[in-house]
This record gives sequence, structure tokens and C-alpha cells, in this order.
Amino acid sequence: MFESLSDRLGAIFEGLRGRGALEEKDVNEALREVRIALLEADVALPVAKEFIGKVKERAIGAEVLRSVTPGQQVVKIVHDALVEMLGGSDKTDLDFATTPPAVIMMVGLQGSGKTTSTAKIALRLQKREKKKVLMASLDTRRPAAQEQLAILGEQAEVKTLPIIAGQNPRDIAKRALEAGRLGGFDVVMLDTAGRLSIDEQLMAEIADIHAASDPIETLLVVDALTGQDAVSTAEKFKARVPVSGVVMTRIDGDARGGAALSMRAVTGAPIKFVGVGEKIDALDTFEPERMAGRILG
Ligand code: GDP
Repeated sequence: MFESLSDRLGAIFEGLRGRGALEEKDVNEALREVRIALLEADVALPVAKEFIGKVKERAIGAEVLRSVTPGQQVVKIVHDALVEMLGGSDKTDLDFATTPPAVIMMVGLQGSGKTTSTAKIALRLQKREKKKVLMASLDTRRPAAQEQLAILGEQAEVKTLPIIAGQNPRDIAKRALEAGRLGGFDVVMLDTAGRLSIDEQLMAEIADIHAASDPIETLLVVDALTGQDAVSTAEKFKARVPVSGVVMTRIDGDARGGAALSMRAVTGAPIKFVGVGEKIDALDTFEPERMAGRILG
């Protein structure tokens, strides 16, 4: 069993209670542990470095409060810096400030959990926010992709756009918007096609659909288990469409939590939701506090 980062930091400062200010030597030793823990959690090196710099600045010379041990104080400084870098003050609510239907466009690589996340978000909006939601799959390449969304829609009791064979993605998007308007829907969710890797054709298609449907939210779905690859995927998508938020899936399988830190720090896009399982209701809003707690252990 690994010792948690909080325990390791506590051990370094053991016996230093009441010394006044935190000393550089002790802080440096602590930062070595923080650095190791971040790299073990698969945080990208430049992000780990930036983070260490931030903590160092705040820790050295900080007066130790009477009520806590120096170890606890450093843990708190690390915790607060983590929350901040995970986007503690981000606005993570979805934006609906537009003439209905508000369009939410889902993008991401195949297998990232895009279709599942589309249905999870639709269910959440319908159930908790009482929005009337219509989902449409624009994936005309992968066999049965449109049917997959229809099946999830049945499970979640969320309406899906009827499938018309042979239609191209742009036309399906237009039909979805029209059906959304005529049917009095609050939200239209567009599940775009994914590929196993990014290619020009996929990106051109996504940019085209974005232009045609003018979404108020463009959510990028990434798999936490792919770690730093998820970050480079995000950068490539961001270069072509204005990503308004990230959905990070499979955090139920990622005990380390480093992907979220790298993702937020490198892309600057707020993480809005996390996928926590295969079930249709296994979706949480992203809580930087909780994720920081996970990294600290
Ligand atoms: P897409 O190709 O990006 O549309 O991916 P899918 O939505 O079809 O998901 C691929 C697989 O990942 C499915 O078996 C999902 O049940 C599973 N999946 C999606 N999100 C999560 C998650 O948050 N946790 C877990 N454990 N599995 C997930």
C-alpha cells in the first residue's frame, strides 16, 4: 500500500511544531514528495513544475499557525493550490442563455464514452432541471451508432431524433434543430462521430457541424484512463472548435486523479462533469475539492 501524500508530508514536518515560520529546507523536502506524488498520478511534467512553483512561493516563510502543525499547514497549502489549478473558481453549470432549443454538441474520440455521456447528461437535465431534451446521433460511419443512442434514450426515457438512413451529419443536425424548435424542446444534444485517432476529415466534419448548429455548449469527452493522451487530444479539438467544457469519463477506474489536473492546467477548459461508472446515472458534477482530496490521499 502506498503512503498517502498527506501522510508523507506530515512525516517530514513531524516535530517541527512551534518553530515559527516554515523553513526553505523543510519545504524543499516536502516539495520533492509532492513532485513524486504528482508524477506517480500521471500529471504532465510542466504542470507538476508549475504547481510546485506555486506551492513553494506560498509555503516558504509562511508563519505556522498556532492551531495546526507545520505538516498540516503544508498539506493545506498544497490542497488549496490543487483546488485552484483544478479550476476551483470555474463556472461549471451548463449555459442555457439562448433562444431554445439550446444546442449541446458532444465531441471526442471513439470509445471515450461520448454516447454514454450524452445520454447521462440528457437524463440529468431532464430529471433534475426539468428540461425537455432531444438527442440526435450524427455518427453515420460507425454501424449501429445511431441505434445505440436510441437504446440509451429508451433506457433514460429521453427522446431521440428518428433515424433516417442515408442522411449526412450536417443534415441530421439541421433536422434535429428543426425538430427541437417545432417540438418545444429546451435542449438538443448532438452526439457527433468519433474516430480512433484524430484525422483531418473528422475535424473538418466537427467544425462544419459546429458552424451549422451554433451550439451554446461544446463538450469534449475524454477518458481519464488515457492520462496525458487525453490532454493532447483536448488540445487538438480545442484548436478546431471552441470547447466550452470537458466531460472526463472513467474516473471510477482512475484512482490517481492526475489526468484532471493536467487537463485543466494545459487546456484551460473547465471540467464540467465526470463519469463514474457504466450506468446511465453514473455522472457527477466535477468537484475540484473532491479531486484534490483524491490526489492528496
Ligand atoms: P463512444 O464511442 O465515445 O460513444 O463511447 P461509448 O459511450 O460507447 O462508451 C464506451 C464504453 O465505455 C461503454 O462500454 C460505456 O459503458 C463505457 N463508459 C462510458 N463512460 C464510462 C464511465 O464513466 N465509467 C466506466 N466505467 N465506463 C464508462
